[in-house]
Amino acid sequence: MTRTRPSYLDLPEGLYSEVPTSRFPDPTLFAANQEFAKTFELGPDWFQSPETIAALSGRQPLYEGAPIAMAYSGHQFGHYAPLLGDGRAMLAGALYDTSGHEHELHLKGSGLTPFSRGGDGKATLGAAIREYIVSEAMAALGVPSSRSLAILTTGERIMRQQGPLLGAVLARTARSHLRVGTFQYTAANHDEDTLRALADFAIERLDPDLMDLGDQRYAAFLTRIADRQAKLIAQWMSFGFIHGVMNTDNMTLSGETIDYGPCAFMDAFHPARVFSSIDHYGRYAWNKQPEIGLWNLSRLAEAMLPLFGKEEADQIAAAEAALKDYPAQFKTAWMAAMAAKLGLDEASDHEAFIEETLSLLFEGKADFTRAFTALTRYAHGDSPSAFIGEFEQADPARDWLNNWEAITDNPAQLDASRLNGMRAVNPVRIARNHQVEVAINAAENHSNSKPFHALLEAIKAPFVEDSALAAYEAAPEPEEVVQQTFCGT
Ligand code: AMP
Ligand code: MG
Repeated sequence: MTRTRPSYLDLPEGLYSEVPTSRFPDPTLFAANQEFAKTFELGPDWFQSPETIAALSGRQPLYEGAPIAMAYSGHQFGHYAPLLGDGRAMLAGALYDTSGHEHELHLKGSGLTPFSRGGDGKATLGAAIREYIVSEAMAALGVPSSRSLAILTTGERIMRQQGPLLGAVLARTARSHLRVGTFQYTAANHDEDTLRALADFAIERLDPDLMDLGDQRYAAFLTRIADRQAKLIAQWMSFGFIHGVMNTDNMTLSGETIDYGPCAFMDAFHPARVFSSIDHYGRYAWNKQPEIGLWNLSRLAEAMLPLFGKEEADQIAAAEAALKDYPAQFKTAWMAAMAAKLGLDEASDHEAFIEETLSLLFEGKADFTRAFTALTRYAHGDSPSAFIGEFEQADPARDWLNNWEAITDNPAQLDASRLNGMRAVNPVRIARNHQVEVAINAAENHSNSKPFHALLEAIKAPFVEDSALAAYEAAPEPEEVVQQTFCGT
């Protein structure tokens, strides 16, 4: 590992602030993602060295120089907040993978920054655990995501609504933490040269092939970002995932999922399901995510307008043209994802049947993941009773199964590639919210990290059948259902 200075520091100075290094009473490794560390050719010893603990706790960045907090603004639940920024995080280095790509090392919970506003700059062990588990679950499902490298407990307690809680730092990586909000902040606070410098930096990092397009590169970049979001959100939805806080400061340009707060994989399917305790109007509900994606992209387009030409009319026309394919891109990705889950031929139009399937799941109060697992098993030769048993009433499920057989021309006829295809997209185990809560509670209140490690084991190969892990397939008992998650970070 030679290069460790993040290229983010090449941006104009106004786009970040230096922050003091952290001093925690007793930074101690709680979790180390040794498997992921191999991406950077870091062995298990790396986590043991004092330099690593210093780097991961924010005491000494990986490079010579001060750590930084990124500046950004953003629309939170539709309302513009002119100054957000990393209020409890720092960029502490860069790691390079074996292909030579840079990944930013970002520490969440590392202390006060110029962007902390009223907050304490800290994170709870519980919040770090939630983000660690869910981001690793997403990666295992093949969904682009920030990754979790480590959690360190800090040796201090921090005050939250629930009382004093253990503090922690989550060391996470992403190809890029640039957000829609980074452009919003730059457009609102800096001149056009700075905006252009940011855009060129982002293009060179994320889509270097577009640099050949001259002035057209900015609009082409916006289209790339939109394509990534369309595919990302389709993937989220195909796993019943609800991000929970799709504010513009939490939407990346790289198409990686970031900032796991009150997020969850749904148990019983409800299209309007929300998890965040403060999302009273269902703005970020499961079925609203594609629409919110476009809303956020429109805010990005507004921030980028000066890059699209001199005349306002040209700028607006370019922005509209850049985003016009997003709805179709989303729909194509979503239909393809659902067709794959159902073992249907992706080339045909199955929209009506997919709608029918979602209605069946909703009306039958079926568990989203379990229903598709049971269907996959049925397609592989199991009896239909497990599938039918996932629904409140058997008859509609039986009728649906007859339709499905008619469309698939009898599942026994599904060829091996379609059968394997179903296995490859229908997880047997997801990081269920009630299991995440069990892991958090054990770690926070009983100094017991076993449920956390056991859950990570269970979700690391989500598509592989394993009867030893059957407990993780279970839907929550009524008393275990997590209704909402607090932003208590
Ligand atoms: P989030 O939606 O969780 O990504 O956070 C939104 C904004 O609030 C970001 O600017 C965060 O840095 C800031 N923030 C959240 N929690 C804290 C905290 N405990 N201290 C300081 N800033 C915080
Ligand atoms: Mg955020």
